Amino acid sequence: MEVSPAFPIESYNLRMTTSTAHRRLWIETVGCQMNVLDSELVVAALRRQGWQLTTSPAEADAVFYNTCSVRQHAEDKIWSALGRVRQEKQARPGLIVGVLGCMAQKDQELIRTRAPWVDLVVGPGQLHRVPGIVEEILAGGPPRIEVSLDRTAGSRDAVTRSFESYDPDRDPTMRPTPFQAFIRTQTGCDKFCAFCVVPRVRGPEQARPPAAILAEATKLVAEGCREITLIGQTVNSYKWHDGGKTTRLADLLHDLDSIDGLDRIKFVTNYPRDMTPELIGAVRDLPKVCQYLHVPAQHGSDAVLTRMKRGYTIGEYLEMHARVSEELPRAAVTSDFIVGFCGETDAEFQTSVDLIDRLQFKNSFIFKYSPRPGTKAFDRQPDDVPEEVKKERHRLLLDAQTEASLAGNLPFIGTRRQVLVEGLSARDERREARAVDGGAGAADGPTATEAAGKAVADAPDRVMQPDRVLQLTGRTMCDRIVVFDAPLRLVGRLVDVDIKAAGAWSLAGDVADGLADAVPLDLPAAAEGGGCDAGPVYQIAPPAAVRPPLGPGA
Ligand code: SAH
Repeated sequence: MEVSPAFPIESYNLRMTTSTAHRRLWIETVGCQMNVLDSELVVAALRRQGWQLTTSPAEADAVFYNTCSVRQHAEDKIWSALGRVRQEKQARPGLIVGVLGCMAQKDQELIRTRAPWVDLVVGPGQLHRVPGIVEEILAGGPPRIEVSLDRTAGSRDAVTRSFESYDPDRDPTMRPTPFQAFIRTQTGCDKFCAFCVVPRVRGPEQARPPAAILAEATKLVAEGCREITLIGQTVNSYKWHDGGKTTRLADLLHDLDSIDGLDRIKFVTNYPRDMTPELIGAVRDLPKVCQYLHVPAQHGSDAVLTRMKRGYTIGEYLEMHARVSEELPRAAVTSDFIVGFCGETDAEFQTSVDLIDRLQFKNSFIFKYSPRPGTKAFDRQPDDVPEEVKKERHRLLLDAQTEASLAGNLPFIGTRRQVLVEGLSARDERREARAVDGGAGAADGPTATEAAGKAVADAPDRVMQPDRVLQLTGRTMCDRIVVFDAPLRLVGRLVDVDIKAAGAWSLAGDVADGLADAVPLDLPAAAEGGGCDAGPVYQIAPPAAVRPPLGPGA
């Protein structure tokens, strides 16, 4: 078994430690990786002011929601939560309630009128102000709204300046795991897809200087981080001009790849037109860069892509995909799709099904169109596909993707893959929570993660015993989820797993005891189906059940 240098298990899940300081913060994060990172940074800043996280809002001195506006559903969740927290606030007037992030930017006034018990409303471009505002509120100050300029409220420069990138020093204990981290390459977005609210709520696209990104990565790796995911709304549009020199994402990847101690580099989300030959070449040539590309197509029809203002045709998407397949035959490509966009006919919808059938994405996130105030589609195109039709199309597209995902996973059975072990599987996270909580997880009870947090907080010895064997989860270099039974001490390490079974969304296997009985499998790339990990592929003992063959080389 290949085991990478030990990561101190004591640090794992420190986010879940019990609170001892007298100020306790509970934060719920909704939405994308950008929000996860924003929450990490806000929490880190507040910790420096003496705050500690708590796993229960009832015990909290401050309750924050870091919000998302991409779909109505995400907003509805927050409005319900604000309704619930109102009672808590009535019972404990000293409780500080905060709405952060995209809804704060988009619905600042609405929050003030609909939920006047909220103390602070802070947009994504103003998060650096949170610690100061909290201090002022603690000192008896009035409720505060801090947001950036609306995109139409001033010159581009003025609007850009009002969205400040928030990338202070990191606090390793605040990440979901200490060995994985997001790094922001740019804020905002200038693509203005007709359906998308992001350019409005996150402001103009602004790149961070390469030196800042590299310094942050180097520091994170020195702190034990092994996997870095670069994030930007369209991360592969990254461009930094300095004198005569332009730095692009491919250049960043080259620099990151040379950091000693770093094992894996990922980047999300990609815009199809910016998937340049240089970037594809960097993914091909740099060993630490994961062969995993999230490149949302959004739809299979040119007419709909035009209405969506995506800026490319399906022909161009296919051409990009063909280049990726040619240069990176083992890469996993994933997508997003929207069903039920304005005016979508049955025939147009079918083109999305056809695209999934043809390109066999590793997986796709599929969304029902949700009209967003402040977008071009909202203003100019009626949301005319009935909800029932959206639901049905969502189901049909998901069926197509499930089939493609399963077909892509099956060839992994019987191979050995390197996996970065991330933590407990969802199943064992729930079990651990129940074991401590005696039945947590009821419909309106805590989520599995909250309950697991409580489990660790209440019984750290039990959960943290490094030799306890539990069902763990990790990911391959191409972002496939693998579950396996193994001792907790493997969390944060790279291990080899013999894949024994495959479902559409995950693989299952056993931690390999050694490569002694594994024969290197010198397959032509195309024969490996979904195979995409860097490094050799091994054929191990065939699984008990008969599986589809690995291909001509097997
Ligand atoms: N720029 C980022 C974030 C966009 S939001 C990215 O590309 O990942 C993530 C996904 O949500 C989009 O790719 C799109 O598929 C979906 N989405 C965005 N706006 C939407 C809307 N109004 N209704 C439904 N889905 C939407």
